[in-house]
Amino acid sequence: MKKHKRIIFLVILSIMGLVNALLLFNKYIDNKLESQLMTSLENLSQQNVVIINHQIEDKFSLLQMFANEVGDKKNYDIVQDHKKVEKLSQIFGFRLVGIALPDGTAYTSYKKVVDVSQRRYFQESMKGKNYVSEPLDDIYDPNVKINVYSVPIYDEYKNIKGVFFTTYKNEDFKKFLRISSYNGKGYSYILDSKGNVISDSPQAQIYGTKNMFKTLEKYSENKEIVNQMKKDFQNGQGGEISYNYKGYKYANYAPLNINDWWCVTIVPKNVLEQRILPISYGVIAICIAIFIVSLGVIAYIVLKQNKYQSHLKKIAYYDKLTEIHNKAYLEEKLTQNINANTEKKSALVIYNIRKFKMINEIYGTGAGDYILKSFANSLKQYKTNELEIVVRGYGDEFAVLYFYNHKEELEKRIQSILAINKHIQYLSYPIDLSFAVGIYEIKNMNCMFERIYNYASIAKNENKERQDLFTYYCDELGNEQITIKRKEDAIKKGIENKEFKAWFQPKFDAKSKKITGMEALARWEKEDGSILLPNYFISLSEKIRLIQDIDELVFIDVCKKIKQWELQGLSILPVSVNLSQAYLNGLSALNHLKKIMDEYGVSSEFIQLEITESYMIDNEESLNLAVTKMHEYGFKVLLDDFGVGYSSLMSIHSLDFDILKIDKSFVDAIGTASGNAIIQYTIQLGKKLDMKIVVEGVETKEQYEFLKICGCDEIQGYYFAKPQTFYEISKILMLKKENISY
Ligand code: C2E
Ligand code: CA
Ligand code: CA
Repeated sequence: MKKHKRIIFLVILSIMGLVNALLLFNKYIDNKLESQLMTSLENLSQQNVVIINHQIEDKFSLLQMFANEVGDKKNYDIVQDHKKVEKLSQIFGFRLVGIALPDGTAYTSYKKVVDVSQRRYFQESMKGKNYVSEPLDDIYDPNVKINVYSVPIYDEYKNIKGVFFTTYKNEDFKKFLRISSYNGKGYSYILDSKGNVISDSPQAQIYGTKNMFKTLEKYSENKEIVNQMKKDFQNGQGGEISYNYKGYKYANYAPLNINDWWCVTIVPKNVLEQRILPISYGVIAICIAIFIVSLGVIAYIVLKQNKYQSHLKKIAYYDKLTEIHNKAYLEEKLTQNINANTEKKSALVIYNIRKFKMINEIYGTGAGDYILKSFANSLKQYKTNELEIVVRGYGDEFAVLYFYNHKEELEKRIQSILAINKHIQYLSYPIDLSFAVGIYEIKNMNCMFERIYNYASIAKNENKERQDLFTYYCDELGNEQITIKRKEDAIKKGIENKEFKAWFQPKFDAKSKKITGMEALARWEKEDGSILLPNYFISLSEKIRLIQDIDELVFIDVCKKIKQWELQGLSILPVSVNLSQAYLNGLSALNHLKKIMDEYGVSSEFIQLEITESYMIDNEESLNLAVTKMHEYGFKVLLDDFGVGYSSLMSIHSLDFDILKIDKSFVDAIGTASGNAIIQYTIQLGKKLDMKIVVEGVETKEQYEFLKICGCDEIQGYYFAKPQTFYEISKILMLKKENISY
């Protein structure tokens, strides 16, 4: 269910991402096309300027040619010679030719003498300029607009002696401006610096006032743009704008070489849109397609989800092997407060099959599975109430939620279940079963499920240690668990703070009574100054798998102390260190110790490793590898606590220990005939197998004397010395140096 939600979420997220990416792409294309359009508009505008300039210059050079001729001839015959003028007009396309005298009297090919003194073109050309007039009415035909082109006439001394002018149809400009692009949608204007339209291309929209600035300014949104344009016109600087007049448009303007004229080239924005539109439609189509496909995907997932939900529920709440419910189901039901309508009391009972692992090993997992199924079945059969729930916990653990009126009733039911399952027949094997049973009487159903289960579990664990049929949870039991938990936490913290240190118990030569070495024993030196012995922390540390860390701390401490003795110039004696089983299961932990030793620069001849006899059960192969490696690294290996376990000396011979340490229990038996015989025999055999013999736990003179006679090599025990602090043992080593016997 959660997974499906996640998938839907991911689908939606990826759609959103994709759509976003497409929109971004669309925008990118938009911008790209827009900038392309602006560039091509600028090119077109430049092209227009070149063409118009060229055309006008052509006309001026023609006019100049005539003007020169007039100047040379010193008369105005040329304008009076109608035939010649008409011929010239035909060839060069002008309508009228005129010559104006400095006082403004003009003789034209139209047979008229007119006064042009007030005309701008006349005034400008008298100042020496080539000039084109604004559009004017033609004197031949007032319906036709013309432009007057004028140039100065010079005499031989380069003084201006008149103005030569011709007229051309204003239409001519339209011809130059005809060249446009964008499928005929682009167009151009020639404006003067005040925005008056001099000419426009045929496709252009006619501005009502014939003044572009005024027309555009009618729309307030264009005000700033027009200002910008005016400023540029003033500064003679080209530019580009976008404005809104009957639709959005882009315009590029550039100065012409004539008068104060400008060429403005325009393209409507929708031309751009037409280019973009197919792409945008494409993107929209893709978005819609994605949307539809993802709707389909989501619908599919939801359908699938519904279909699988019931299936999943079944898987989630059932135990496959026994076909009864599992712990998750019990949790679900308990949190739903299922007993709200019953007056009865309730209890959670946990059953755990004792020594189930052994049954599996002896009779095979087939037998194990059969027992689990059969027990589950009988629990289910003996339900007396629909509200009761039977579940399989983990492995060989079952939990039942019972409802009952009196405690005796509950106990009777449990007893009968145990009785029914006391013997079970698997194929031809009759198998005896016994159970650890913990009961938690539920006082408050609203209590957290994990807590209820945990209470029943604590009671079951307690029952495991006892022979009683069942154990009820009580607060003391809980407290005990809490104490253990606290102790665990304290050990962890102690390791973090490196509070585990080595103390040293010396070993003595049995004959000379001289100190020969020592055993490092872990001590927990707590922050508050208290010192805790191994029996307080070793077994729990083993259980919670922290013993390896403690061993390492002690090992490091031993390395440090050896180094210190070396620096003090004391002769160093071998120190034996106790190793937990963790060091025997693989070689990496051992390699780590070797590394530490090398780091401190301590030679392996000063360190011996003690391995306790009980670790040998089932482990001979890995133990063998470990011992071989220890020898490779140069350590002497010592078999500790010999006599506590069941190994015979012959069986351990192959393991190649260097030293045999006989346990205190053998020492305690000294004084009895059998005790004396056993220890005597053990020492003799150990020596025959080439092992050095150490006896530990020697407390009395008698014990010592007897062991000396037996040929024991070294003695360790309270009779000689208890475990010492570093300071105390250092003093002993010092006395040894000065040859003072301890
Ligand atoms: P062990 O390795 O057999 O160490 C000998 C224990 O016997 C020590 O107890 C020592 O103080 C005690 N002992 C020595 N002489 C006598 C004596 O004459 N009479 C009596 N009654 N006891 C004597 P300790 O130091 O309490 O250590 C207990 C056990 O804790 C050790 O037994 C060893 O199995 C374990 N242990 C100690 N240090 C370490 C360590 O660093 N790592 C590991 N894994 N285990 C350790
Ligand atoms: Ca030991
Ligand atoms: Ca021992």
